[in-house]
Amino acid sequence: MIDGGFPNVDVKKGESLEFYHSVCPVFYYKGKQKHDIWGNIEKALIGYSSNKKIRFKAASGGALTEICCYLLENKKVDAIIHTTYDPDDQTKTISCVSTTVEEVISRCGSRYGISVPLKDILQIVQSDKKYAFVGKPCDVMALRRYLNKNEKLTKNIIYLLSFFCAGEPSVNAQDELLKKMGTSRQGCDTLVYRGNGWPGFTTVNTKDGRELKMEYKVAWGQYLGRDIRYICRFCMDGTGELADIVCADFWQLDNNNHPDFSEHEGRNIIIARNELGKQLLDATVKSGRINVEEDFTTKIDSEFYLYQPAQLKRKGTMKTTITAMKLCGRDTPKYSKSFLNKYASHVDLKVKFDFFIGIIKRVIKGRL
Ligand SMILES: Cc1cc2nc3c(=O)[nH]c(=O)nc-3n(C[C@H](O)[C@H](O)[C@H](O)COP(=O)(O)OP(=O)(O)OC[C@H]3O[C@@H](n4cnc5c(N)ncnc54)[C@H](O)[C@@H]3O)c2cc1C
Ligand code: SF4
Repeated sequence: MIDGGFPNVDVKKGESLEFYHSVCPVFYYKGKQKHDIWGNIEKALIGYSSNKKIRFKAASGGALTEICCYLLENKKVDAIIHTTYDPDDQTKTISCVSTTVEEVISRCGSRYGISVPLKDILQIVQSDKKYAFVGKPCDVMALRRYLNKNEKLTKNIIYLLSFFCAGEPSVNAQDELLKKMGTSRQGCDTLVYRGNGWPGFTTVNTKDGRELKMEYKVAWGQYLGRDIRYICRFCMDGTGELADIVCADFWQLDNNNHPDFSEHEGRNIIIARNELGKQLLDATVKSGRINVEEDFTTKIDSEFYLYQPAQLKRKGTMKTTITAMKLCGRDTPKYSKSFLNKYASHVDLKVKFDFFIGIIKRVIKGRL
């Protein structure tokens, strides 16, 4: 049934279809809205936390944490609704509400487990309080679309913040990762996926006192990123299009102009997607919490693909993915052809062909 407006696990098939259509991210791409491959951009800065400890500990450069701290410190909101690890099983996550700067900082970093920050949001939000929400692009898209239909809540949930997302690793991916690292879910005491450097090492402290480390590019490239949830393969928005501000890695480039995942000091691209986001970004920078390396706004169209090739490829090959999956008899979302064709024009034919063959092979081998 519907609980406070959000469907819970008991929703029966066919029930409240209209509700799903109005909030589910999949149905956003059926509309006629104008679209560019990187979404709307009011301002894009390259920057990082001016606090060395936060910059080191955070997932990338700590920009998201700094924006949240600015909001709390300046009483723009009463609390931040975000995500941290489940203390009982660190491969899992829990939603959390931070009301102090110290709490926000203690919960920085990326959790590569499944997160459901919208699950209890209507119970969390108090009618006399203001909040900022941090979530994956799909969380933010669903919440934004829900807020558009429930104006009353917009007085409480003021800011929507997000990060780029290449997929949510499955439960199985976590187990495979821990096995390769020499432990298991039961043996794992603490688990940090990245951070403590940039990108930092995936680090496990086991209950029997061992510290196990794996390079981030191996942990993500060979385990976590290989086995993401089925729906993530059809995700059209890994870039937080409906957030006020979205943050991502702004990787250094190697000699071949490819992202360089070796260790560096962390940095973000920080994208304000609308006027509210721009005002917040400008205010956070002015407060001294974020150091700005460069204003990248005018370079997005010509250069950003070098720094985030996977996000460009994902959108540009969505038509290919859907065609290949359909051919294999799989269920696929029904996106508008105009979106798919427009995005497909950003990617070379050879890339799309190789991608197509890759999908077919993986389905035949039972890996997809
Ligand atoms: C599953 C996943 C996939 C990602 N894929 C990409 C990618 O392809 N490209 C890219 O550039 N960046 C990706 N990121 C984002 C990247 O890891 C950083 O979060 C981002 O660059 C912001 O860095 P930061 O230092 O500003 O964040 P921080 O200052 O460390 O703050 C991170 C914030 O995100 C919240 N958070 C952490 N994990 C989750 C979660 N699972 N669900 C909801 N909220 C969470 C935390 O509560 C915290 O408030 C991904 C993150 C995740 C969790
Ligand atoms: S890839 Fe898309 S659908 Fe999957 S978790 Fe990330 S934002 Fe959500």
